[in-house]
Parts: sequence; C-alpha cells; structure tokens
Amino acid sequence: MLLTKANKRMSTIAIHADWIFSLTSTPIPNGWLVAHEGVIEFLGRELPPRFQSVPIRKLPNTALLPGLINAHCHLEFSDMANPIEFHGSFIAWIQSVVRHRAQANGEESIERRRMAVARGIEESYRSGTRILFDTITAPWSPDWIQSPSIPQELASSPEVGILRHALTGLSRFYVVPIPETLDIHQSRGDETIAFARRVHEQMGEPKNRQSSPTSSSSIMPRLAISPHAPYTASRNLVRNWTAWSQSNHGLVSMHLAESREEMEWLAERAEPIESALGRFRDQAFARQSSTMQDYVDAMLEAWLGIIAHGNYLDESLLTNLSAHRNHVAIAHCPRTYRHFHPDRSTQNYPLAERLRRGVRHLVGTDSRASNPDLSVWSEMQTMLNYPGISGEEIIAMATREPADLLGLADFGTLAVGNRSLCTAIPLSGTLEQEDIYRSLLTVGKSAVPLESMIVES
Ligand SMILES: [Zn+2]
Repeated sequence: MLLTKANKRMSTIAIHADWIFSLTSTPIPNGWLVAHEGVIEFLGRELPPRFQSVPIRKLPNTALLPGLINAHCHLEFSDMANPIEFHGSFIAWIQSVVRHRAQANGEESIERRRMAVARGIEESYRSGTRILFDTITAPWSPDWIQSPSIPQELASSPEVGILRHALTGLSRFYVVPIPETLDIHQSRGDETIAFARRVHEQMGEPKNRQSSPTSSSSIMPRLAISPHAPYTASRNLVRNWTAWSQSNHGLVSMHLAESREEMEWLAERAEPIESALGRFRDQAFARQSSTMQDYVDAMLEAWLGIIAHGNYLDESLLTNLSAHRNHVAIAHCPRTYRHFHPDRSTQNYPLAERLRRGVRHLVGTDSRASNPDLSVWSEMQTMLNYPGISGEEIIAMATREPADLLGLADFGTLAVGNRSLCTAIPLSGTLEQEDIYRSLLTVGKSAVPLESMIVES
C-alpha cells in the first residue's frame, strides 16, 4: 500500500518523556522516541526537524522502558482471586492446585479455562507485559490468545486509535504457549505428548504465527515444550524434548529445584512426595532413578532452556549453568518464592551471587495460584530487597536478558529499528542519579503499556 503523506504522518508518533531507559546506554533525560507502525525511528534528546510535523505527545512524570517479558506463567489459573494457601508441604499445595483444576468438567471447564486465559492476558497487558511464556495443559486453543483490549475508559477517537497503532503495529501482546508433558504413567505420557504435538501443529499454521509484519524478524517463531518436573517427568522425557528442541530450534522449559521436598525426593525418594505419587505412577516411572545433576545435564542439551525456579541448585550445577548462559537461564519468580518460604526472608535470596557467577536469570510471575497478581513490575520491586543487586540487573531480567537469550534482536532494548512496544512507568517523584534504575523501581508506581497513555491532546 502506498502511504499518502497524511497517512504516514498519522501512523507516526513522537513521544516526549522525562526519562527513556533504553537498556543499551545510560538513561536519556527529557528524551524523544519516534515510532512508526510499531518500529522505533528515532531515540534521543533533540527531536530532528524531519519529525517536527508528526503528532506529538508529551508525557510528564513518566519513564519509558522496553516492553516487559514474563518468562514463566500459567495463565489457566488467572481467575483465582487469591493464591492457594501454603501449609508447609509443597506437594500438598500441588494437590490443592490439581483439585482446583478438577472442580469443573466438560463444557463448563473449557469455558472457565478460556475465560481465565483471557483474564490473565488482560491483566498482564495492563501491567506492562508484552511477551508472556505460558505453560499450558489441555484443554487449550490457539483462539484463546486474543489481543488484549484497550481499557474502555481510554477508547476514544479514531485518531487516537491510529496514534496508538503507530506505537504498537499490529500486535500489542505475544503469548508463547508451552504445552506441559509428563510421563509419570504411560497413559498420561501418551495424552500429554499428543496434546503437545497438536499445539505444535496448530502454532505452525500461518494464522497462528504471531509474526510482525513491520519488521523482518518475526517476534516469536519458536515452538516450546515443558516436561513438568522431576517427580512427574522422567529424564528420558526431558532428553527426548531437548533432542526435539535441537531439530526445531525450540525452547524447553521445566520446573527444577523448586522446593526442598523435591530435592529430598530426588536424593532418596523421601516423603511426602514418595507417597503422594504412589497411585499415579506406573512401574516404569517408579524404577527410574535420576539425580538433579542428570536433569540439569539434560536441560543443558536444549537448544534454548528455561529452568523455572532453580532455588535449590548447588554450586557445581550453577557453575554448569553459567557455562551455558548463552542458551539456558533460570526464571526466578520472587513472590512465588516468598509464598513457599514464608519463614525465610527474601532478603536472603542469593541472586546477586548467582548473577556474579554468570548464571543468567529472567523474571516470571508464576501463576495466581501462588501469587496475588501477574505484575512483572511488582516482581521486580520485590527484588529490591535482595542484597547486593543493582537496579539495572533487576530491570534487565525482564527486558534485555530474555530477549538476548531468545534471540529477539528487535526486542528487550529500545533502539532505532527495534519494536516500539514500550512499557511506561508513571513516576511518583523525581529519580535520583545514584543507581537511577533502583530509583525507577522505587519511584515507579506501576507499569502500563505506553499506548494506554496516548489520549486526546
Ligand atoms: Zn510454574
């Protein structure tokens, strides 16, 4: 389509903000960002003359960040008003989650699931997330990934719609579905593997590929898979999927070293997990005896790997992970960690030490079964309590680091040619220069999609 001058003008917008955090160089005070059809055309302190006739929005008391990335989530639980309480046993908590899932059946459960996913997408979008890695179980449909709506109170004139489109291009939000598989019993293995194959076929269909028409790199072409956790998924299953990931350039995501109970079960088939598994597993699963090292080694074979939690990995395993940081990372979920460790202060979480070691960490919210909401920003603010960690390290875990791991060249940082799916941070005060990133996390009230701030001028 040939753009007339007026059209081109309308599909471009210049934003002025107090601060622009590009994550590639020092934050820009009083900066300008020009976007055209979802791609950044300019970033800097002085608006060049060629952009002075495009529509302008000045956003006082606002900082801009690259769009936030949620590396670990389960949207199917997004209809929960409150997390499921933890009473000291991790496996007992998992059993409560399974019971919650089983409460409805048939058509009703499918509809409830669809609504939960829709709610989770809306909530994530409104709290500034742009890409979300969703661990899914059946039933599920690619049609459930709907573009989130602009809040009603902000829906206004067509002109405003066009200006928002200038920032976002065609898609405002991306979900990477990660089908969960387990082989604790052969029948469960057959079911979940068939489910995963179906999802992969569906995601391979052109209509379900969320590619970006405005840039040469499609944002999310990857297929993904999740072997659930060591107490439900054998090492062989993990290995089959890591081999699959090599031939499909896919992502393998797995819960590992999340709880003390899991570590004790792996080491010596300890209670309470051993009894809890009893009636669900078959002989083949009961006979296998892999260690945490076996699982980590298997994950290191992945083309791309995300270890969800990894709270209890020991020094030698962390050393192995750091040697593979170019393709394997840990998704840390701060408030979920706090949910299961009410006795331990998050001030003790050795994240800084792990980062110094070179282990790549991303941020996840996990689900509303263990977290009060799906705000990545709140997860980042929780990490302000961790000793020895810089504000920039925290912010990078939800922006630059996941984009770099996943090879999303036009995401995770703000630069000319990158996607302009920005997250805006309304500020409740002025930023202090000394660790300005930490100051942003302290003074930043919330995170919202930038386009939601574009209203009538
Ligand atoms: Zn999880």
